Amino acid sequence: MAYVINSDECTFCGDCEPVCPTTSIKSGKVSYKINKDSCTECEGEFDEPQCVEACPVDGCITRLAA
Ligand code: SF4
Ligand code: SF4
Repeated sequence: MAYVINSDECTFCGDCEPVCPTTSIKSGKVSYKINKDSCTECEGEFDEPQCVEACPVDGCITRLAA
């Protein structure tokens, strides 16, 4: 499982990138992107997904549907 950034909501602020413990977030062309293969949902490191905590836009980063 992983989290995903909704490109329509992302304002390109960059706040999520430095807080990711697995360096899974990089800037893309139209929004920041999460590498779903390396995102651990912060399991074992934090109680809450750090990118969701850091993102100022509600609903921008959501859990990827299985
Ligand atoms: S949920 Fe955690 S591991 Fe996944 S992208 Fe967000 S900060 Fe990184
Ligand atoms: S914190 Fe949210 S709005 Fe800012 S770059 Fe990351 S996903 Fe986009």
